[in-house]
Amino acid sequence: MRFTSLSLPYPTPIHRFFPLPIPHPPLLISLSRIADLHLHSTASDGSDPPATVVRRAARAGFAAMALADHDTMDGVTEALAEAAIVGIEMIPGVEYSTLDGEREIHMLGYGLDPADPALKRELARLCAGRFNRAQLMVEKLNELGIQVSWERVREIAGDENVGRPHVARAMQEAGYIKTIKDAFTPDYIASGGRAYVERVKITPEESIAQIRAAGGVAVLAHPGRFRGDDDQIGDDTIERYIAAGLEGIEVFYSRHTAEMVKHYSEMAARYSLVITGGSDDHGVNAESLMGRVHLPYEYVEQLADAISASRERRVTCVGNSQG
Ligand SMILES: [Zn+2]
Ligand SMILES: [Zn+2]
Repeated sequence: MRFTSLSLPYPTPIHRFFPLPIPHPPLLISLSRIADLHLHSTASDGSDPPATVVRRAARAGFAAMALADHDTMDGVTEALAEAAIVGIEMIPGVEYSTLDGEREIHMLGYGLDPADPALKRELARLCAGRFNRAQLMVEKLNELGIQVSWERVREIAGDENVGRPHVARAMQEAGYIKTIKDAFTPDYIASGGRAYVERVKITPEESIAQIRAAGGVAVLAHPGRFRGDDDQIGDDTIERYIAAGLEGIEVFYSRHTAEMVKHYSEMAARYSLVITGGSDDHGVNAESLMGRVHLPYEYVEQLADAISASRERRVTCVGNSQG
């Protein structure tokens, strides 16, 4: 039975509402309530629409979940509506792609107000940057005599945010290159290449400030792993983000080792950071990771407290600026 197969790095806390009435399977699940706070939908590069992601999470026995699409909160409204129907707690989230120098850093924001005008503007800028950038690269390729069409690149991308991999696939399809990798050369769309266009940039510190200004909590995503490389984020870097207002760290992650979990847990304790966790699932047609991380529900409560504090701070700040 699925509720007996929880494998957590720490003992599961007995839920505070214990004891519950006569136990049967659904109630036994709620004895050790679990969450997945890092899920993607078709609003960014996931394969499942937001409502489907919510239904999958509910079916998998999660008490709480968070949608954390790349640079957009467009899926949040649909996810919240579905969550109310299926009875799962849904926390609005976003995953910013930021640049720390040349290095890509992902920053999660939880509990932000999707209707916040400044946030909407900024996410639109980041998404448009991503979109226009690919189009500009196609134009540059055309100037270089590579005949790939923007329409075809968009078709290839489908519901995903258009990016360099889609441009590369169009080049491959048209016979200009043998493998996708061949597009990422100085002649084409490698960083600094002849058809390359610089991305719209945001630093980790700027994303933290935006998340906080929108009443959310900034959490460093997968500090131990990124794209499978051995590229752990160093403690000194994390300390710099903490100084900028970082409040949490994604300790539990589908590709974190036990040592990473231990290290980042200790860091969280040292700096009083909120601990979060999630699978980074991108849907059933992508690498389906849902179920790999079972975040104990007590961490969701801690995150909820941090979100409340951030919202209160925000109200105070807005009040001050008007007064
Ligand atoms: Zn990420
Ligand atoms: Zn992600």
